[in-house]
Amino acid sequence: MAKQEDVFKTIVAHAKEYGFVFQSSEIYDGLSAVYDYGQNGVELKNNIKRYWWEAMTMLNDNIVGIDSAIFMHPTIWKASGHVDAFNDPLIDNKDSKKRYRADVLIEDEIAKFDEKINKEVTKAAKRFGDSFDEAMFRQTNPRVLEHVRKRDELHTRFAEAMNANDLNELKQIILDYEIVDPISGTRNWTDVRQFNLMFKTEMGSTADGAMEVYLRPETAQGIFVNYLNVQKTGRMRIPFGIAQIGKAFRNEIVARQFIFRMREFEQMEMQFFVKPGTELDWFKKWKEIRLKWHKALGFGDASYRYHDHDKLAHYANAATDIEFLMPFGFKEVEGIHSRTDFDLSQHQQYSGKKIQYFDTELNESYVPYVIETSIGVDRMFLQIMSAAYCEEDLSKDGKQDSRVVLRLPAALAPVKMAIMPLVKKDGLPEKAQEIMNLLKGLWATGCTKKVTEGVLAADFIWGEDLNKIPGLAEAVKVNLDSIQEKGMLETVKGIL
Ligand code: ATP
Repeated sequence: MAKQEDVFKTIVAHAKEYGFVFQSSEIYDGLSAVYDYGQNGVELKNNIKRYWWEAMTMLNDNIVGIDSAIFMHPTIWKASGHVDAFNDPLIDNKDSKKRYRADVLIEDEIAKFDEKINKEVTKAAKRFGDSFDEAMFRQTNPRVLEHVRKRDELHTRFAEAMNANDLNELKQIILDYEIVDPISGTRNWTDVRQFNLMFKTEMGSTADGAMEVYLRPETAQGIFVNYLNVQKTGRMRIPFGIAQIGKAFRNEIVARQFIFRMREFEQMEMQFFVKPGTELDWFKKWKEIRLKWHKALGFGDASYRYHDHDKLAHYANAATDIEFLMPFGFKEVEGIHSRTDFDLSQHQQYSGKKIQYFDTELNESYVPYVIETSIGVDRMFLQIMSAAYCEEDLSKDGKQDSRVVLRLPAALAPVKMAIMPLVKKDGLPEKAQEIMNLLKGLWATGCTKKVTEGVLAADFIWGEDLNKIPGLAEAVKVNLDSIQEKGMLETVKGIL
């Protein structure tokens, strides 16, 4: 098994062991692709949401938030195109009886060419040492050029099939490239079919005639149908944005990789309304702003990249993903889309209500264009756990030893500070409590019972037990000096 897969498995196990993420309905053998957040997970998740919410609504004068309902009028999903087009192409393997997304099978095949190219580059870098010119090597090495040619050929064929919605061609690509089922190892595939990802349920009693409604597959439509309400009541002037955090539901064909792809998940979306014709400039701006926001967390710039879309969704005239280097490769964490005036125009048409903006500078009305930034809370959570997870080698004098540390950014850490009395006497626990009380309400503080109850050597507390507080950001050691030192509490206040 590849080492990275081991790392991923360890992170999943760690997330459970330390109360971050549990399988939903675990005592009933679980519910596929649905997860619960535990005592530490919920704090981390709330901090992620706060970090995003504050960046959007507090650092921008022209972005406000809303919280719309999950259930919405079913016509909204007709207008948005979700009833007709929110599909994934699925394919089954007749031997393993497993279901796959045809597009993902092909994308994985494309990624194999990139892996081959990178292998050639790594091998050559080793061989040539300091004199290695990577750019030159990539441009001239015949093996690299051959892989690039084959990758681009497949890429073009795939993009054309997706844009034309040509399901037969997708199957043909899978056959031509001899893509096998990773489980059965066979090429015994069914035809490719479209599968709608929306969950349906019924609203109202059947005696009254129940209405078929959907669990929203994205939070964005809740923003579009409230555009007029917010614009009018908030007297918002274009350009302005509306942000929302909330649950979304998708009946994903293949739900795997833990909380990366779930059937119930949470999104943080912002729709930014702009003057028609300025949307591509704003798209560029938001691309930059969002990447900067990610990078500010300090996980290293090399872990991020943009991935521009080949197949644009029916509503978009530009789209890119911000990808993060997860233990299973670069994966989408956030999507940034230039959605044109598609959604507002569709709702205008289907609702029969005028959805426009009167521009006082131009003295005319128009349907605004929209730039969307859309990020999954759970995916961001996984990204942060993966980036923060660190195994430290503490081996000394031939004795093997290691420990796990979660290097979380302080702003996201579930426990912000631990206050630890060195011994359980001489007034130290009371002093620790006093400091805790001072900090309560400002920060989430933790004081592990285990530490307060034991008479422990300082090294033990700091070296070992400190790491038992998952995701701890800071710690304060309370010893006799703390008590004797006059004005100590003032000092603590001073560091806040
Ligand atoms: P993917 O290509 O991975 O299916 P998408 O392009 O359909 O994702 P969007 O519709 O752009 O995703 O949704 C915006 C964000 O919502 C994604 O970048 C991702 O972070 C998150 N997201 C989407 N689907 C899921 C899911 N099933 N589970 C968890 N997060 C999701």
